[in-house]
Amino acid sequence: MTYEEAPACDRHDSQVRLQLRTMHSDSARPDVLVGLFECPECGHERWLPMKTSYEDSEAAISAA
Ligand SMILES: [Zn+2]
Repeated sequence: MTYEEAPACDRHDSQVRLQLRTMHSDSARPDVLVGLFECPECGHERWLPMKTSYEDSEAAISAA
C-alpha cells in the first residue's frame, strides 16, 4: 500500500513532507482509516483521515 499524497508540515517555510508512522481505524467510524503522520524535521504529529477507496466514499455520500 502506498500513500503518495503526504501532507506538508506547516511549521516550515520549505515544504517538509510528513511521514506516515502508523494507521488505524477509528472505532466510531470503522470505515475510515486514520493515519498518524510525523514530521521528520520537528517531530510534529498529525492524525489525518485517509481514504482507502474513493468508490466507497462516493457511495456513502450518495446513500446519505
Ligand atoms: Zn515540521
